Amino acid sequence: NIVLPKFLSQLRPYSAGKPIKEVQTEYGISMPVKLASNENPLGPSPKAIAAIKEALQDIHRYPDSQITELRYKLASVLGVKSQQIVIGNGSDEIMSFIGQAFLLSGEEVIVPFPSFSIYEKVAIMSQANLIKVPLKNLSIDLEAIKDRISQKTKLIFLTNPHNPTGSFFEAPLLENFLKNVPRSTLIILDEAYIDFVSPKRHFESLNYLKDFSNLIILRSFSKSYGLAGLRVGYGIMNIELANILERVRYPFNVNTLAQVAAINALDDKEFLETTRKLVWEGREFITKALTELGIRVYPSEANFLLVYIGKKAVEIYESLLKKGIIVRPLTNYHLPEYIRISIGKPEENQTFIEFFKEIWQK
Ligand code: PMP
Repeated sequence: NIVLPKFLSQLRPYSAGKPIKEVQTEYGISMPVKLASNENPLGPSPKAIAAIKEALQDIHRYPDSQITELRYKLASVLGVKSQQIVIGNGSDEIMSFIGQAFLLSGEEVIVPFPSFSIYEKVAIMSQANLIKVPLKNLSIDLEAIKDRISQKTKLIFLTNPHNPTGSFFEAPLLENFLKNVPRSTLIILDEAYIDFVSPKRHFESLNYLKDFSNLIILRSFSKSYGLAGLRVGYGIMNIELANILERVRYPFNVNTLAQVAAINALDDKEFLETTRKLVWEGREFITKALTELGIRVYPSEANFLLVYIGKKAVEIYESLLKKGIIVRPLTNYHLPEYIRISIGKPEENQTFIEFFKEIWQK
């Protein structure tokens, strides 16, 4: 006779993209082309794999509870102090630390709508009030968010590039926004996809940490570094905030294999560059091919593309699935007429386009 606490009734179990398993297609069982979860299609860096193999002999020991080496390594790569970095079991976990540490019942959390579902979960878990600010032309509307700030606003989540649209805002917009937010409100700038921003638009948000003590930047090893299955993400912030999150963090939240893999992935600059180039070329290829079919593809600075399909979006998703291609329908993201396509390897993108054309032109 356990009663479900009322606030939990607002939450549903999370359902992500389909796992990479064999699928039943119209041709029989086959390995799918998975373009659904914004993963790295190249897999993990070979350096990370080698380090994991070596570390396997140590897994009877507890991990380094302070995550020392990875923190120092990140600090030197990013040009910040190691005490400014908090590492989590995916950047998801840092979001939950933030909610646990700072957010009180009845306070307000502002999120762009739609956006990554974990932001909502953080708010609901703390029994905070969620304020959803609609996107404008499928981009984050910083002006509208600013207008919703009240004395009760404790957290504001921003995603740059945004998921699921791929939209991106530049430095002057961020700076202007930061200047207009009271220091008692924390701004969580989720940069899970930052490595895919084209060089001509990229800017270094870490430069704002010095002047804005209420800024927390989140990054992830799940996307560009290809370590989604190991769960490593981190937050960069001022030391006082980091010390508070460290009070919340469990001692062994990041396992040994994840720690060594992340350290070694950071050394593999060549892998990162290959990944970025692959994403940039894939973005262009898919955009061009779909645009030629008269389909609207939104400009993206991430490793996925938002595509407007119309009423038949779910049908198209299901037809692709029958051919062994998994894309992401966006019903859960409240964009039922759109699909999101993660950039794959060139041959995967090609296969996707071939099948898509077949289905679309039927
Ligand atoms: N932020 C955004 C915007 C994401 O899309 C994702 C992954 N889907 C994450 C964070 C989670 O990253 P991690 O795997 O590091 O928890």
